Parts: sequence; structure tokens; C-alpha cells
Amino acid sequence: MALPRALRAAGGRWARCLSSSAGVGGDTIFALSSAPGRCGVAVIRASGPGSRGALQTLTGTPKLPPPRVLALRRIRDPDTAETLDRGLIVWFPGPRSFTGEDCAELHVHGGPAVVSGVLRALGRLPGLRPADPGEFTLRAFRRGKLDLTAAEGLGDLIRAETEAQRRQALRQMEGELGQLYQRWSDTLTQALAHLEAYIDFSEDDNVEEEVLSQVDGAVRALEREIGAHLRDGRRGELLRGGVRAVIAGPPNVGKSSLLNLLCQRPAAIVSPVAGTTRDVVEVALDIGGYPLVLSDTAGLRETTDLVEREGVARARDRLCQADLVLAVLDASVVPPEPAGLGAALGALQAPPDTPCVLVLNKADLLQGDEGPLHHSCAQRPPLPPTTLLSCKTGEGLDCLLELLARELARLCGDPLCGSPSLTQSRHSRHLGGCAAALVRFGRERPRDLALAAEQLRLARRELGQITGHVGAEDVLDIIFRDFCVGK
Ligand code: GDP
Repeated sequence: MALPRALRAAGGRWARCLSSSAGVGGDTIFALSSAPGRCGVAVIRASGPGSRGALQTLTGTPKLPPPRVLALRRIRDPDTAETLDRGLIVWFPGPRSFTGEDCAELHVHGGPAVVSGVLRALGRLPGLRPADPGEFTLRAFRRGKLDLTAAEGLGDLIRAETEAQRRQALRQMEGELGQLYQRWSDTLTQALAHLEAYIDFSEDDNVEEEVLSQVDGAVRALEREIGAHLRDGRRGELLRGGVRAVIAGPPNVGKSSLLNLLCQRPAAIVSPVAGTTRDVVEVALDIGGYPLVLSDTAGLRETTDLVEREGVARARDRLCQADLVLAVLDASVVPPEPAGLGAALGALQAPPDTPCVLVLNKADLLQGDEGPLHHSCAQRPPLPPTTLLSCKTGEGLDCLLELLARELARLCGDPLCGSPSLTQSRHSRHLGGCAAALVRFGRERPRDLALAAEQLRLARRELGQITGHVGAEDVLDIIFRDFCVGK
């Protein structure tokens, strides 16, 4: 009995010292940082000035383990001193922590009762409150631990479902994209400094005309670099969000069968009755490490059936938004020569600029007569990448997967090669603004140096908004609300 009483008293004392420190640097937040649900180990994090006191109170001793060293401790209820669990604790004094503030972690057994018991205990300590979604990362951003692009990369890494997405997100989280934009911003700062020096001192002959041509050269080179970055075919965005592919073709050629074969489950209804698929059925797939969002749509044909007509309209709509078209034709009825296949493909009226893969399905019905179609498959151009398949037997599936992986790699690029890709429309918007300001600089430069300098300032501001170094307050909510609680 003596021990719990002592602990109770001690708990009260530490809780008091905690509340006195809580006001110093704002409040202290806590949350379950691992996924909710039953699991082996759950990680509960706290960040803020009350983290040290929280650890002391919950472990029942003022003695903390050395910074960043795991220690096994009993974790106790601060009011009753009852043991809630035995787990590992870590103490990260700021600024050497994820958020830059004092942080604590409790690694407890991942049963729902343990987790809610510890969370409830933390919630009863003065100065502590549950974290909002993304609040840990927001605090890290505010303390300069990461810039906005790195924070976005971290969000993408948490959401990454395929290898290629993970690679791209990790690169961004480690700061490569932010460094690229910072380098461009430094170029502009230098150009601006030279231009201002010329404006201020050229009359005293201290600054040579040559300075102006150096500024022009640097701005033109930057304009080219930003232009190339913007014209990367949305590679980074496609990889981040998944390539939207639409299965299109006449009714009954095996479109739904193809979707089911690729996702290995009966997601879409397969039926010999033409016009069965009316709504769009969507599945997310990982093909060779690349994300594919595949939609099965209604067969494209003229119809008087009102519901089917709506299905065909939706199919056409999807086709217009697609990043990739999987055109399916029935191999047993199409003309085998390239011209005939091209005509059948053309009849689908897919957008001409959208990349396409042609699947000649029902190859099992050809009964050894595939020769001419095999020959046609190799005719590129005029045909897009083409392959024979039987959804019924699965023959040709490996070839199709290989072909799809190649197309996806072409569309998304290798996330480890070359400069990091543009991953968000927010970035392209500001880069577009930056590029436009550089064009205006080119126009103003021969006319008015002061107005030209102003354009360089505007261009630099646009870059600063991407990394969050200037004027990012209004987008923080949008960026961090997509994070989960505890991240
Ligand atoms: P959709 O209307 O284009 O979506 O076509 P479905 O996937 O619903 O298939 C229409 C019919 O063709 C069904 O009876 C399927 O069993 C059949 N089918 C689909 N793929 C193949 C195939 O590779 N070989 C054969 N012989 N029949 C197939």
C-alpha cells in the first residue's frame, strides 16, 4: 500500500511541475502514432514542453533514461498508480527530435484497452491535449525541421502503396525537391543582388555592364530549367496519384473479364449478355511497382436503352480523363492485318494523344490460327503496343503485365533517376507563376531595370511559397489536414 500512495503523491507533484512548464512553449500534444487496432506494439507520442513531466508521471519516477535510449518501464495510471502496461519509453529532448520540441514516445502492447488506458492517462495530465491530424509534422515544419515539400513527401511516404511511390516520396521527404527549388531561389537572389547593385552603383562606374549580361544569362538558364521541369509529362503527379487507366472496347469482348483477371477477384460482373456493365468499376493495382487505377466501363456502342446510354456516356467521359487506355478487341472477330486492327481501334474514338495498349482478347478461340495476329502485334507503328490474351485460360497475361509495366515506367519515369519530379499541382501552379514572372523580367529588362527587378522578386516569392519559406500560412491547413492523427 505504501508504494501506490507514494506514487500518487509523486504523480501529483510531477503533474504540478508539468503544468508550470506547459505554458512556456505552448501546449503539449499526444496521439497514437501507429495504426489503430489490435497489434503487437503501439507507439504513443507526445510533443511539447510537458513531454518530460508526462514521462516522469507515467513511469512514476523523476529519473528518465538518457536521451534517445529505449528503456523498459512500468507505465502507471497517474491517479491510481495502477500499472497499465510494461513497455519501452524514449525521451527526445528538443531540439534533437522530430518536431524540434521535447518529445516522448511510449511503445506499449497494442491491445485497444492498453492504448486507450495510456491515452486517457495522458489526457488527464495538465497542459496535455490530443493532437490534431498532421500536428506533429506541422510543428516540425514550424520549427524549421523540414520544409513544406519534405512534409508533403512524408505524407506521401505514409500513403505510398507501391515501390515506385515509396522511392519518389522518400526522395522528396529527404529534401531533394526542396533543395532543387532552394537552388533556383538562390540563383534568383544572386541575380537580384547583382541587378540592384547595378541600379544603385552603375553611375559611379563601380559596376560593369557585364553584370547585366550575367543576370540575363542566369535568368534565361533558370527559365529553361523550370520549363523542362514543368514539361515532364506530369510524371511525378502520375506516380503519386496512380496512372488512371480505362478499359475500353465494344460490348462482350471481355473487358470485365480483363479487370477481374488483373485484380484476381470478381470485381466486375462477367456475362455473355452484351451491355451488362453500365457503371464504372474501379480497382487499384500495383503493376511492377507502379500504381495503376483501372476502370472497367460500359461497352462502347449506340443503344436505345436509357440506362446503357448513360453507361456509355460515363465510359466516354472516363476515356477523356484517362492517362492510359487499355483498348480491348475480340481477337476471334477482328481483321488480323494491321490496317483492319487500326480501323477497329479507331472506331473506339479514344483521345488520340492518350497512350494506348491494345489487348486482343479471346485468343483461345483462334484455334492455332494466331499467326497473322502475332505478326500484327509487332507492327508498331501504326499500332500501339499490342498483345494477344485469353482471359479464359490466362494465356498471354505475363506478356500483358510486362507491356503494362513498361508503359507505366515510361509514363511515371524512374523515381531514382535524374532530378526529382514535380509531384503536386500546388508546385506546378507556383512554378508556372515563377516562369511567367521570368518572362515578364525579359520584357521589362530593356525598358526599366526597377520593374525588371520586381519581377525577379515575384519569381522568388513563388518558389518560396512551394517550400513554405514565404506566405504559406493559407495552405498549411490544406496540406496537413490530409495527414492522419499522430503523424
Ligand atoms: P465485356 O462486356 O466486354 O465486359 O465482356 P465480359 O468480360 O462480360 O465477357 C463477355 C463474354 O465473353 C463472357 O461470356 C465471358 O465469359 C467471355 N469471355 C471473356 N473473355 C474470354 C476469353 O478470353 N475467351 C473466351 N472464349 N471467352 C471469353
